[in-house]
This record gives sequence, structure tokens and C-alpha cells, in this order.
Amino acid sequence: MPSPRDQVTTYQERLAQASPQELLTVFLRDFPGQVTLASSLGAEDQVLTHMLTTLTDAPRVFVLDTGRLHEETYEVLHLSMKKYGIAYELFAPDTQELEKLIREKGPNSFYESVENRKLCCAIRKTHPLKRALADCKAWVTGLRQEQSANRAAVPSVEWDAVHERIKLNPLAHWTNDQVWDYINAHDVPFNYLHKKGYPSIGCAPCTRAIQPGEDFRAGRWWWESDRTTECGLHGKKES
Ligand code: SF4
Repeated sequence: MPSPRDQVTTYQERLAQASPQELLTVFLRDFPGQVTLASSLGAEDQVLTHMLTTLTDAPRVFVLDTGRLHEETYEVLHLSMKKYGIAYELFAPDTQELEKLIREKGPNSFYESVENRKLCCAIRKTHPLKRALADCKAWVTGLRQEQSANRAAVPSVEWDAVHERIKLNPLAHWTNDQVWDYINAHDVPFNYLHKKGYPSIGCAPCTRAIQPGEDFRAGRWWWESDRTTECGLHGKKES
């Protein structure tokens, strides 16, 4: 039996024209109980959450609760739990790591240097992500090619070399209009910050609204001059 890594190429060929629902259906069948959605509670992830509830009785969805999310994000989590009855898997930062960070650097050290910001993202996001992915074979994300130059080549199925798992991006080829048409058609709960100029919503202190025409991720870590707009969750393996 080929390893999941070897299977990715086959899946890519077989599912090149598949709809998001068709793609999810195949992986839910092939890896029962081992497919999980990483949800930021943003528009794309809300679409995928709704799709999963229509495809399986036991959707797996996890949220990285960094402790610094917007109130609006917790509100959409609450609404979604009520509407879908999903047992969301919440992953918080390790207490000792977080206490050490704040004791030594203060609560807002991410504004002071890129190094500090990366450390905060590691403790609040990437370390909990490792735990979230521990018992899954494939993880699902809401990445879309249209979102930024960094994501322009995102495929719908890929091998995630950093986390050594299959990564599914079912909405890779969708437009922003398709996302919102789906939300409106299915009465999907959404984060109201999207209506206030926030296309991408992360932690409250590190996300701001953008101006028309700016990059989808321009509101993330805007104070960094030589900045990335990815936080490490979707990074490439260092060579
Ligand atoms: S986005 Fe900001 S607050 Fe959130 S983990 Fe990263 S540096 Fe910390």
C-alpha cells in the first residue's frame, strides 16, 4: 500500500476537476475519522464547516484559541456551535510556555521585533497546531489562490512537508464571490469583521482592516517593514 505521501500525486490527478464537496467526500471515505478542518472561523472556514456538516455526521473541526482572538471571532464560534452542534476541538497555548513568554517579554512583545512576533506565533499557534494534527492523516484549510501572491499556486491537494500530512485546500480555485454566495445561500454564520474591512482575521492585536485594493493579507502584522503575511501555519519546510 503506497504511503499517504505517495498517494498525493494520484489524488491530484484524479481530483483535478473535483468540486470542494467531491474532494472532501473522497478523503472522508479514505481516511475515516482522520480528516480535520483547521478553522480560524473566517469566511472560507465557515463554508468548509458547513460543507462538512452536510457530508458527515461527525465532522472534525479544530480552532487554535490563541487567547488573543477578537470578540467577534468568539461570537461566530459560539453561533456555529449552537447551529451545527459540532464538538469543536479547541487548542490553547501551553500554559508554562505562555506564562514564561509574558513574564519575560510582556503581553505585547510582538510589536517590538520580528523575533518576538515569531515566538508569540510559535507559542500561541504553531505549537498547538502540532497537537491538533497529531491524530489526523489529512488537514483541511480554507486557503485560496486568489488571496495573495504567496498563495497563487496553492493546489487543492498537496503534501505538507512541514507537518508530514496531506493538506487539502478544497477552495483553492474559488473566488471571493463564490465564498460569499455560498455563505448567503446556506445562511452560514460569519464573522462581522468581514463587513468592516477585515478579509483575513487573526489575533486582535495583529490584524487591522485594509483599504480597497490592498492585498488580502495586508492587515496582518502591518507594522513589520520586511514582513511576511504568513504566521508559520502554512509555511514551507526550510531546506
Ligand atoms: S498573531 Fe500576534 S498575538 Fe497572535 S500569536 Fe501571532 S504575534 Fe501573537
